[in-house]
Amino acid sequence: MTRVLLVSTYDLGHQSFGLASPAAWLAADGAEVSCLDLAVQTLDEAVVRAADLVAFYLPMHTATRIAADLIPRVRLLNPRARLCAYGLYAPVNRDLLHELGVDAVIGGEFEEPLAALVRGDGEHDTVSLARQDFLVPSRQDLPTLDRYAHLTLPDGTTRTVGYTEATRGCKHLCRHCPIVPVYGGRFRVVQRDVVLADIRQQIAAGAQHITFGDPDFFNGPAHALALVRSIHEEFPELTYDVTIKVEHLVANLDRMSVLRDTGCIMITSAVESVDERILEIFDKQHSRADFLKVVNGLREVGIHLNPTFVAFTPWTSLEGYMAFLDEIDELDLVASVAPIQYAIRLLIPEGSKLLELADVQNLVEPFDRTRLCYPWRHPDPAVDALQEAVFALVAEATERRESRAAVFDAVRPLVAAQVGGPTVTNPRPIRTSRPVPQLSEPWYCCAEPTEDQRISPI
Ligand code: SF4
Repeated sequence: MTRVLLVSTYDLGHQSFGLASPAAWLAADGAEVSCLDLAVQTLDEAVVRAADLVAFYLPMHTATRIAADLIPRVRLLNPRARLCAYGLYAPVNRDLLHELGVDAVIGGEFEEPLAALVRGDGEHDTVSLARQDFLVPSRQDLPTLDRYAHLTLPDGTTRTVGYTEATRGCKHLCRHCPIVPVYGGRFRVVQRDVVLADIRQQIAAGAQHITFGDPDFFNGPAHALALVRSIHEEFPELTYDVTIKVEHLVANLDRMSVLRDTGCIMITSAVESVDERILEIFDKQHSRADFLKVVNGLREVGIHLNPTFVAFTPWTSLEGYMAFLDEIDELDLVASVAPIQYAIRLLIPEGSKLLELADVQNLVEPFDRTRLCYPWRHPDPAVDALQEAVFALVAEATERRESRAAVFDAVRPLVAAQVGGPTVTNPRPIRTSRPVPQLSEPWYCCAEPTEDQRISPI
């Protein structure tokens, strides 16, 4: 019997679908599967030494950076094991992973290729977009849900959070998005009965809220709506949150009441910028006006919007950054924006579609093997200096557990000092004092790494 160790290094505070799903496939094939989630567990060297195959799950940039440090250690601990890397960030970092000693690199829909690799009839390097018949994820070997991010509701109560995925990939082609180089505008569905069974087992394990990790929950709205109706019928007390792009929110505002009525309390949306030029460069297919429609539309329906931004790009000016802060304040979104969003710097990983732009080619430095990205400098050094100052401020404020409003009020003078504007929006709007639902681990993805890899939300 092949002994397989699946390792996750970081998955944004979730009990990882990317461990649980392949664990079910491999066990069904007769493998002896162990899982290690190093976000909440320490490396068990005995388990590493015993494994015939160690597979690292790389769903995001931070996870890949941590794994890149870990892989040589695992190789030393167990020189006879085959090493594999799988997940979104594996194929785009293929060369580096091979140099580190990884034998097989699997991207896209990874369960079947991983199972084939363990059986001995799989390809070593593959990106599969084949439609799969999913199995119910196997979660019994994972740390309990109370070890992961929790949800705090506006009334101060907390909820245990489970995590699942109803689709993977995305049918859109935003230039800065790490999904595009792998899925190329396609998405794949996890069958409804599998998602329901996965949610059922997480509720039995204590989940009171589910985060759907789909890159865009409304890539397949019929699938999404049928799913949440079924879940709500069975578990009327369950709440959930999803991620939906601005364009889809605008097109489906009339369906938001269905989400609300089935337990959706929060929608994360990658707004990225309020600057039309930057939205165009990213090919986001939405405008600032669309963002405003979404803010108002979700407010009317009563679902909290959790907007995310790429605050610093090569095209961000000091004045543009100030305008971004003003917009957040004027729209009364200060309580809704996690402080890390003010500091996020555009990440340009290997394979990024942004690299096709001459403007970007002229701007980036050679690939940095430690940071796993193409570093860039802003043409105006004052913008880079501001980003560093904002990042340091956010990190310190997070340590002190300051409120979102306090962080916002501290960020604004940093830029006001540079552009000579007022330190508060004038006239300053009356901010809502109503608290908002918050997950205890922030969403961030397209962030160029700084020395700190994780910041908690406030
Ligand atoms: S940024 Fe969002 S909408 Fe755009 S391609 Fe990526 S997942 Fe899809």
